[in-house]
Amino acid sequence: MNRLLLIALLLVLAVFTTACSEDKSSAGLAKDEMVPASAYAPVSGNRIYSRPDLCDTMEDVKTKIPYVDQKLHKVLGRCNSDPDKERYWAYYGKRQKPATLKKWLKRLCKKKYKSATTIIDVDEKQCHSGSGAYNVAAVGYVNKYADLLRAFNKSGADLSKSAWGKNHYCSVGLAEGRTYPGLSSKSCKSSGGGSSSGSISGSSSGGGFTKTDYQFVYKKNAAQFGGRTVRWASKSINVSGITNPSWQAAIRKWPVVRFKFDSSKEIVFAGYSDEYPKACGWAQPMWRSNGKMARCIIKLNTAIDSMGCHSTELVLQHEVGHCLGIMGHTNDGGLMDPVCCSSKITSRVRRGLALLYALKPGTKIRSKARARASSAMHNKSKAVRDDLFDPSGERLIHGPVIATQARQ
Ligand SMILES: [Zn+2]
Repeated sequence: MNRLLLIALLLVLAVFTTACSEDKSSAGLAKDEMVPASAYAPVSGNRIYSRPDLCDTMEDVKTKIPYVDQKLHKVLGRCNSDPDKERYWAYYGKRQKPATLKKWLKRLCKKKYKSATTIIDVDEKQCHSGSGAYNVAAVGYVNKYADLLRAFNKSGADLSKSAWGKNHYCSVGLAEGRTYPGLSSKSCKSSGGGSSSGSISGSSSGGGFTKTDYQFVYKKNAAQFGGRTVRWASKSINVSGITNPSWQAAIRKWPVVRFKFDSSKEIVFAGYSDEYPKACGWAQPMWRSNGKMARCIIKLNTAIDSMGCHSTELVLQHEVGHCLGIMGHTNDGGLMDPVCCSSKITSRVRRGLALLYALKPGTKIRSKARARASSAMHNKSKAVRDDLFDPSGERLIHGPVIATQARQ
């Protein structure tokens, strides 16, 4: 019995060996180049938003190990003008660098079909699975938005598409209002599928923050503190003095951060006043010399109901925006415009806030916001605050009182 089995096995092996060696000489490649393995994927449905089936079906004929689980380097692709639309090619288990394998694959397509090549995956950027870190929703999310796909492809990412997509979604996408089925704020709480969102902080590998975002944060925030960012140390912020549920609900509409309504004095609603008769409300942020917000006092005009201020909820939501670190006004028809208040938190503001809270308090951003921002914005508060930074945070710095006007 055993002998029979052995013979059968040898026969099978022999078949594979001849199949392989036949394949090798066929493409007319240079001596050291190997022909990739070819495979077919079932054609079903629209796979644009999901991972290529080839990631699973492309397997080694001998070992039956799928492409994604192969060790060493691998490259998966197809030749664009191959008349057989369902044929794919892959290298795997190769010691050569991915760049070499890509070059070989491209050369094969050129020689065989005079064709350009579509590289589907290199070392599991798009096929990444293995430990289950592959995230269909995160990959679909990247594919859905052309600008993200471009950014990912450009990143030469060390991250898989899953991890990159998740990082982007959690650090900016969510705040920007981007959506994809299966992604929500909950997706950002678990740690699987990518490096923590803290590593993003506008680095070239993933945050997706632009110079415009940095300029926004510079103008509305860091310009008040010698070019360094000012924010709450934690994204969970206490608000005292507000018990009205609809006021709380309005404040909770702010993305990026969370609020606790209790008696701890971080953001403080200090009641009504007529100190600034024309303002619906005003806010005064204060921070420590290490860039950590220490307190922010909000007051509303005693006459708020009779002076065309829209709703108290929106005025409060707007003032809380100042307290989060948006220490200026926008001019985009949104909630943070100086005349109160549209209910829309615009994408500019969402992105700015997401960037501000992706950076540590006291981060120097002048160079990243360069050019236009520095000259235009520096005139107001100028050098006075330039030298106040101090990691121990000993000094308390009083920021500007930012007032919000009524319509009229
Ligand atoms: Zn305001």
